[in-house]
Parts: sequence; C-alpha cells; structure tokens
Amino acid sequence: MKSVPVLIVGGGPVGLAASFLLSRQGVDSLLVERHPGTAIHPKARGINARTMEVFRQHGVEAAVRAAGLAPRHTGLIVWARTLAGEEIERRVPWRAGAQSAAVSPVRNCLCAQDDLEPVLRAHAEKQPLGQLRFNAELESFDQDDRGVIAAVVDTTTGQREEICAQYMIAADGAQSRVRRALGVAMLGQEDVYDSVNILINADLRPWTADRPAALYFIENPRLRATFLTINAHDRWGFLVNSLEAYGYTADYFTPEHSTELVRYAAGVPDLPVKVLGVAPWTASAHVAEQYRHGRVFLAGDAAHEMPPTGGFGLNTGVQDVHNLAWKLALVLKGLAHDALLDSYHAERQPLGRIITEQSLTNAISMGRLASDNRAAGARPEYLNEQGMIFGASYVSSAVVPDGSPPTPVANPVTDYVPSARPGGRAPHVWLERNNDKLSTVDLVGNGFVLLAGAKGKAWRANGAGLPMHFHVIADKAFADAYELSDGGAVLVRPDGYVAWRSATMAADPKAALGAAVHAMLGQ
Ligand SMILES: Cc1cc2nc3c(=O)[nH]c(=O)nc-3n(C[C@H](O)[C@H](O)[C@H](O)COP(=O)(O)OP(=O)(O)OC[C@H]3O[C@@H](n4cnc5c(N)ncnc54)[C@H](O)[C@@H]3O)c2cc1C
Repeated sequence: MKSVPVLIVGGGPVGLAASFLLSRQGVDSLLVERHPGTAIHPKARGINARTMEVFRQHGVEAAVRAAGLAPRHTGLIVWARTLAGEEIERRVPWRAGAQSAAVSPVRNCLCAQDDLEPVLRAHAEKQPLGQLRFNAELESFDQDDRGVIAAVVDTTTGQREEICAQYMIAADGAQSRVRRALGVAMLGQEDVYDSVNILINADLRPWTADRPAALYFIENPRLRATFLTINAHDRWGFLVNSLEAYGYTADYFTPEHSTELVRYAAGVPDLPVKVLGVAPWTASAHVAEQYRHGRVFLAGDAAHEMPPTGGFGLNTGVQDVHNLAWKLALVLKGLAHDALLDSYHAERQPLGRIITEQSLTNAISMGRLASDNRAAGARPEYLNEQGMIFGASYVSSAVVPDGSPPTPVANPVTDYVPSARPGGRAPHVWLERNNDKLSTVDLVGNGFVLLAGAKGKAWRANGAGLPMHFHVIADKAFADAYELSDGGAVLVRPDGYVAWRSATMAADPKAALGAAVHAMLGQ
C-alpha cells in the first residue's frame, strides 16, 4: 500500500496551493484530482493582496502576475443600463487605489481561475516533493488514531488503490464528498440564489477601453448581469444574476439564448459573440461547524461556501492551507504536539464565518437574492474589505497573548489598522538592507522569524528548538508599527501572523522565548 504523510483530495486552487506549501515546508504529499487537468472555467478572478503575499513568500507571485491582467485594465467597477447605454455609477475600489500600497508590499491581481490553476500546478510540480495525480478520484476513506486509509480510483482504467496517509486535507470543493462522509454540520444558508456563468468571445473594447473595470454590472428591468473582465479584449465572463427574480431558469441558457442576452446586456444587437461555455451554479453561504475531524482537515470551499460578491472564496481557501501547512509540518517532524493542529479550526473557522456572512451581506445589498428584485447598487463596503483582508486577529493556542487589548476599529469590514498584537498579521513596513528595499513581510520564510529592535541582540536563542531566523531591525518606523522598544521582539509564524511579542527586553530572553514557543506548540 502506498504510504504518504499527507493526502490532498482535490486539485483546485486550494489543493494545488496545499501541495506546494507542504513541499516548501519539507513535507511530502499526494494530491488526487478526479478531472484530467485544471479548471476550464474562469470562476474566481480577484486574487487579493494578502493571497498575493502568500504567493510572493512562496516564489510564485511573478508567475501569477504574468498569467493575470495588468492593473491598468482593472481599476474601476462600473454600473450601467447596458454596456453601450447609460452609465449609472462608477467606483474605484480600495484594492485598486494607491492607499493599498501603504499596507502591503504587493497589490492585488486579476487572474482568472483557469489561468491561475496551471501556474499553481506548475509550481507544485516544480517542487522536489509533492506528487499530483490527475484522473484519480477519492472514493471512500476510513481513519483511526494511526492514520487515514483512502480508496482512490483511476477514472481512466477503473483501477482501485488504497493509500495510507497520516493526515488528509479535503480540498474537494463545495460538494465535498469527504465532508458529507464525515457528516459535518454546516452553519448558515444553503442555496441562496442561482446564477449562470457564461464564457464568451466578443470584442467589447469599444464600450470598455475608456473606462477599464474589473466588473461591469448591468442593471435594467429585464436583466441583471455582469461582464467579468478576463483579458479586457475578447475573452469575458458573463454572469446572469438573480435568475428567479427575472423569470429565467438554468435550462433557458442555450448558446442561442445566451448570445441574445449578451447582446441585450451589451446594448449592441448585432454584436459578434461566440459562447464558449455555460455553467449554472447556486450560491450558498454556509460554513462547516468543525474544520478538523480527527486526521482530516476541511479547507477551501469544502469548509466554507460563500457568494462570490467580494471575491473571497479562493482567497480564503488558499489562506486556510497557508495556516495549516506549517502546523502539519511541525507535527509530522515531531517538533510540536498534535494539539497544535486544533488551532487550525480555532483560527480559520470563526474567520470563515465572518467572511461568508459579509459576502452574503454584499450579495443582499446588490439585490442578488431571488425574492429581492429592486435596482441595486452595492453597499459601500463592497470591494473595500481591507479589514477582512488584512485585519484577522486569531485567538488560539498557537498565539501567546501579551495582554494588550484588540485595536479598536470603527468598521471591521473596511478598516484595517496595522498591529503587531499577537494573533494579527505582522504589519508591512519598508526596510532597507544593503541599499535594497524590502518589506517586513518579505522576512517571513518557511520557518519562524524573530524580529528584534535595535538593541535586541540578546533575543538570539537558537530558535528555542524550532527552525527560526533572527533579525535585528534598527528602524524607527518598524519599532513604531510593531510597538516595540529598542529591546523588544516579536515572533512571527511561517504564515506571517504574530505568535508572541515582548515590547521590552526580558530579564532572561532565552527563557521568555522558550516559554512562549512551548506554550504555542502545545508542549
Ligand atoms: C462566478 C464566480 C466568481 C468567483 N470569483 C471569485 C473571486 O473573484 N475571488 C475568489 O477568491 N473566489 C471567487 N470565487 C470562488 C472560487 O471559485 C472558489 O472559492 C474556489 O474555486 C474554491 O477552490 P477549492 O480548491 O476549494 O475548490 P474547487 O475549485 O471546487 O476545487 C475542488 C476540486 O476537487 C476535485 N474533487 C472533488 N471531489 C473529488 C474526489 N472525490 N476525488 C478527487 N478530486 C475531487 C474537483 O474536481 C475540483 O477540481 C468565484 C466563484 C464563482 C462561481
């Protein structure tokens, strides 16, 4: 029987990211994906800046950017009666504005999922560890306190193989077979509204080039739809929203009817249109009650399904496995107790619930729900969710509180106040090293990193038994942002979150750091 430390079920963006994140932590894995290749539909497109930071940390940011669209094509959000008709409103979302550069060394990226996944796949395949197996479907599994035994079927030959793993990541999407087999309760609402995603070839530049936007919302009495920018030239997504409210059913969307609707929404009756694919889907807003089930971890859409209004599904999923990979690595290497893995649920599930609720609130404000047929704008928070993107504050055994209170914010959805309080993302501060500019975010690597103030040399403590880098940073902006005196230090985890902070030098720095590390690792 094949034996592997981690079995990953699903080769969507979350499973592919899990593969290379584990490999980069030195953990071998096997990914099984039932389809012959990566996604053929451009579902997600908005990769937020926090996810781009993850990609940057793991060496794939440039390739994702190269596969995506240059920012000059995506700076606006436009509402109109038709593309060629009256414009109702335009907005510059925060993510596209210059202010986003103040909080991150990277900016967001528009990269359609069918362009992104091959990049993530290539990056996973480039790693010395981590095998990807396509045409391989997880059929069933069993677990006990020694491991997971999974039955995987080759979808081309029908051959069945048993695979033994110490842990399994279920990244098998919204209809997750693993989640159903485990009987996981879901919190929230299922099937909140229907939509149809249509992929088209049509040259829309005459109506878009002078107001380049990521989204063109069409609002009129016959149709509520969205043109989704993919290459800003002749490849576009066309999303028909609120089917029921407008009297459509999914069967209506033949290529002929789809073409007719695209022309209607464009306001150009003779527009040449080629329909490349039609994919009906139903939005839900629900989250697994538990993300950890023994040796099985739910991640991505298997753990949380949310309306795409806000563009959080893929982003949240990639950040789930970023949170999980280093914890699995420490436990598999015998450096941490299995209890560390409980912090995955404790940190990610409450956040998943908040993001799902906010995505639904966006959808409601945009009139997406079938019973709500009013002309819709979108609440001001929509695409201005910097608090949700950067402001997570984990409370778990993997964070050692320092007694400081949470930073108050007027609106936790939109407002992000950088803070190095334990549990938050280590804030971005530009630094200079040997005449090179680098961000504090760039100091996060595969291990822990200890960032100390100008007089913090005594914190160097051989990592308290963990892989750990150490930096002394003599920079006022750093000390201010991290609220450290010259002798203080912060410990940043491999996922970029602050694990522990000592604002000043401790009497016995080695003992203080050691105690923090032991507490965090459940030892
Ligand atoms: C119209 C639309 C727009 C969106 N826009 C955004 C956006 O802008 N930003 C964003 O972050 N998100 C967006 N999303 C959401 C995003 O597409 C999903 O959150 C994302 O695809 C989830 O990734 P995943 O890897 O968890 O699941 P999936 O992408 O669903 O991948 C799961 C994989 O598991 C495989 N699988 C399932 N069962 C098995 C099995 N038994 N054995 C082997 N393999 C199996 C499937 O074949 C699939 O490839 C959007 C979604 C839609 C519909």
